[in-house]
Amino acid sequence: MNIVQLKKLSYDEVAKCNKCGFCLPSCPTYNAAGQESYSPRGRNAITRFAVEEKLPLSDDTERSIFTCLGCGACTAVCLSSVQTKDLIFQNRECQVDVGFYPKIADRLVKTLEKTRNISDDDPEDRNEWQELIKELPEGALEKDQAEVVFFVGCVASFFPMVQNIPANMARIMQKADIDFTILGGEEWCCGFPLVGTGMPEKLEEMKKHNLQKMTDVGAKTIVFTCPSCFHTWQHFYDTDLNLMHATQLMAELIQDGKIELTREQNITATYHDPCDLGRNTGVYEEPRQVIQAIPGLTYKEMPMNRKFSVCCGGGGNVEMTDPDLSAQVAQGKLDSVQAVGADTVVTACQQCVRTMTTRAKRGKIDVQVKDLTELVVEAMG
Ligand code: SF4
Ligand code: SF4
Repeated sequence: MNIVQLKKLSYDEVAKCNKCGFCLPSCPTYNAAGQESYSPRGRNAITRFAVEEKLPLSDDTERSIFTCLGCGACTAVCLSSVQTKDLIFQNRECQVDVGFYPKIADRLVKTLEKTRNISDDDPEDRNEWQELIKELPEGALEKDQAEVVFFVGCVASFFPMVQNIPANMARIMQKADIDFTILGGEEWCCGFPLVGTGMPEKLEEMKKHNLQKMTDVGAKTIVFTCPSCFHTWQHFYDTDLNLMHATQLMAELIQDGKIELTREQNITATYHDPCDLGRNTGVYEEPRQVIQAIPGLTYKEMPMNRKFSVCCGGGGNVEMTDPDLSAQVAQGKLDSVQAVGADTVVTACQQCVRTMTTRAKRGKIDVQVKDLTELVVEAMG
């Protein structure tokens, strides 16, 4: 996208920003970096001055525009509802056009073209997580036809720290006698990382392939454990298929008595709303219903919850472009967990689990980080 196209697309929206600064305390990157250029107001000023041709795009604007987490917390508190995240992601496309973008993105694009996953792994290893399910016959989860498809996503497929998430979700669906399949090596990245790199047009190939595979297996419902895959399918894929996040399915299964939670979990837990599941897609209550159905668990709500929840630091590809900033944001999240008196933070996202677990380990912070699927399996007994 060039500057003229950016102006056409974004000028009316960015002009709505009256520079009041109400959003500043809600922006995790501003809180971590303490600089105006890391704030929603600063980023909007950059976009406005760029399209008014008063400010050339540069290394400095790149740093500001590519360190936004895409969390959307700024819009939640903005009286003018300025869509700052969307403006920033549109600006990223323009930054790419003039060559000011983190070059690590080029490697990501090449990897996605070659292996169709973000970690450059062999596509056939997408099923590695199944080794965590005891006595599962090989190929048992891959069927030619099924109305329910479990879309696993790249991070949970290939990153050992979070491979227990798909394993646990598969156990839950098996326990509830759901006839489902996975796409295995035929599943491609949903394309979400390309939106964050400012190259959303490259998502088309991924979308076409994944939609075709769903048609081939006769899918009617797709279940996601990854909020970003779920969000991408909701917002970028044109489909009438029923899209469900795992938390929604689990809440339904508990309500219908298809899974029973009988084992007491004597923990004090809080829930972290993943940005792409909560604020960016609107799923707030089902994860809380599941957590509160767990026997023995004491629940504490953090003051900044639901649409005001603070990002874990894992969004917007910032972990890739500025890992220190991402870690600082994760530290802030863990501070909020401890402040509410919780020993466990439950979330529903493999990326949040990775970001918070890594920070807790490195900072020797005594907080357990769990995905909701893990907690449910433990409570199923
Ligand atoms: S984005 Fe909204 S809250 Fe932030 S400075 Fe602009 S108008 Fe104010
Ligand atoms: S989307 Fe999040 S990180 Fe980006 S400017 Fe808004 S509050 Fe800050």
